[in-house]
Amino acid sequence: MPCPNKAGRKRSPRHSNKRYKICRDKANNFLPAPVTNGTKQSTHIPLAGKPRPAGGELHIRQRDRQENLGAVSVTDWCDWKWQFRNRVRSLEKLALALERPVASLAPCRPVIRSYPLAITPYYLSLLDPADEKDPLRRQCFPDPRELSFSLGEMTDPLGEERTMLVPGLIHRYPDRCLAIVTGDCAVYCRHCNRKRMWREKKPGGVRERLQAMVDHVARTPSIREVIVSGGDPLLIPERMLDWFLGALQAVPHVEVLRIGSRAPVTLPMRITPELCAMLKRHRP
Ligand code: SF4
Repeated sequence: MPCPNKAGRKRSPRHSNKRYKICRDKANNFLPAPVTNGTKQSTHIPLAGKPRPAGGELHIRQRDRQENLGAVSVTDWCDWKWQFRNRVRSLEKLALALERPVASLAPCRPVIRSYPLAITPYYLSLLDPADEKDPLRRQCFPDPRELSFSLGEMTDPLGEERTMLVPGLIHRYPDRCLAIVTGDCAVYCRHCNRKRMWREKKPGGVRERLQAMVDHVARTPSIREVIVSGGDPLLIPERMLDWFLGALQAVPHVEVLRIGSRAPVTLPMRITPELCAMLKRHRP
């Protein structure tokens, strides 16, 4: 597809050079443009789209990191655990990011009581908070319409629960199954068809649940493909994922292992050299 500029089309503000620069920097390093903050190098989290007025920049002091978004060290920004810990989980934080009074988000409060809010600072920096139609914003900002159910609509729209022969393992087709290893995600997508799981507390330990899935796969010779999914499987402890992939790979009739994750999009820092080395050990 030709580049919009080469094709002579006018660039929208969304495709301004500024935005491209921010995206390119992030693509290289997940970094917005660094600025100097006293003697310490820090980086402002730009909420992409429009240049921000000086007073409107979100600035953070060391001690406020848990509560606000703003200037963070480069090391923190590139650390997936920092990103995960500092996700926007409340309307107060979201209002700060949008530079809007929190009262204007009041209609969203019942929504996040049922379906929690979670946005990584990285993902937040990609969207245009001023554009209500921004597709990234629509994916992760709560919307009161999430609570309207029409007749016949179900919390489990794909009927997954009734195909689980062991908890968390969807076995709908004879030759493949899908393992829900966690209900947690870095960013909660508002369109998710498994949002019923976001608040679910699973009984028993993770290891026991995963072992029950491996046992089911091992005693079902028709299964040749296992999709490791969630939630986001890259959020469970790496050693646990390593063990789970190894246990599935050891089953003779399993030919294909697939991992379903949105981390490369919502939390790309999660793709560490250590994770890649571990995944490499489990390739066919
Ligand atoms: S990443 Fe997938 S499972 Fe997680 S909220 Fe988004 S659509 Fe749902």
